[in-house]
Amino acid sequence: MQADSLPGKPADLLSAAAKVAAARGWRVRDKSSRRLEINTNPTMGSLGETVKVIVENDPSVPGSCIVKVSSTARFQALDFGRTGDNVSAVLAGMREIANGSGPSAPPPPAQADAKFCANCGARMSRNAAYCPSCGEAQGG
Ligand SMILES: [Zn+2]
Repeated sequence: MQADSLPGKPADLLSAAAKVAAARGWRVRDKSSRRLEINTNPTMGSLGETVKVIVENDPSVPGSCIVKVSSTARFQALDFGRTGDNVSAVLAGMREIANGSGPSAPPPPAQADAKFCANCGARMSRNAAYCPSCGEAQGG
């Protein structure tokens, strides 16, 4: 099992997991508000497996969840289909989506109708003649 703390609500993180599964052509088998199960496709070396994603609120980081990803071979008796690769792939994909849409997004560009005082750096309206903070005359 692998675990990580990712920014977002449980529902957001589970939908991220569903997106990762869909991108790989895997089927989401079961979904609840805190849990998601994915059936991976059989490949040459594997009969397929069930990747289980569980999210819990992270008590130490508000707005984040602890995501646990584990894997179970589809056929327990033939336990050779299990690979850590799919667990890593699901967690890495979720991490990418969670961080891409999270609070690390770049701030919006400064408004075009503002300028900054060359003397003290205070923000003011573009047509101000004097700085409201230090009184310096403003050109432009
Ligand atoms: Zn100023």
